[in-house]
Amino acid sequence: MYNVIPLPYSYNALEPIIDEETVNIHYNKHHKKYAENLNNLINKKIPLEQIPKRIEEFPLKDRGQILYNAGGVLNHNLYWQSLNKNPTLPKGKLLNKINNDYGNFDNFKKVFINKSKNLVGSGYTFLVTDNNGNLTIMNLPNQETPLSYDLTPLFTIDLWEHAYYLKYKNNRNTYIENIWDKVNFDHASNLYENLF
Ligand code: MN
Repeated sequence: MYNVIPLPYSYNALEPIIDEETVNIHYNKHHKKYAENLNNLINKKIPLEQIPKRIEEFPLKDRGQILYNAGGVLNHNLYWQSLNKNPTLPKGKLLNKINNDYGNFDNFKKVFINKSKNLVGSGYTFLVTDNNGNLTIMNLPNQETPLSYDLTPLFTIDLWEHAYYLKYKNNRNTYIENIWDKVNFDHASNLYENLF
């Protein structure tokens, strides 16, 4: 059985940037539905993170739906871990790499925000690393996961309308800017620290 991670904080922890109702619906309805769909599609025991790389083990007719729903579980797991009531900044090796590549965190944030604003349709902006520790900020549509490209996602912002529409309506750019008051880089820093 595949399941979503426990929400790392209370439903109102991201107030006033992301309202309680949005977090509740996003986690309990949207996120959990991907896990439910995935359980209806898959019988074999393959770790969730391995599904994108082992997609050829599944019947051709099911691969699209399996990838979509596995991505939906994985991407939301990372999204919740990319946010926190009290924001945290990159540290250790990740901070050094960001400073090296982008000059400083503020500039990195600017580049990330611009990338988010450029996403067309539904999807996510990710900070990813390749197997050599090279960082990239990239957009992917729908529920595609960087794991499909042999990249490790470290941090992500969900840009689907359901992530912000109750509060921000059509003002996606305001959500994209405001959410940086609630970002959590502890998870990304720990992942990067232990990969290299
Ligand atoms: Mn979502």
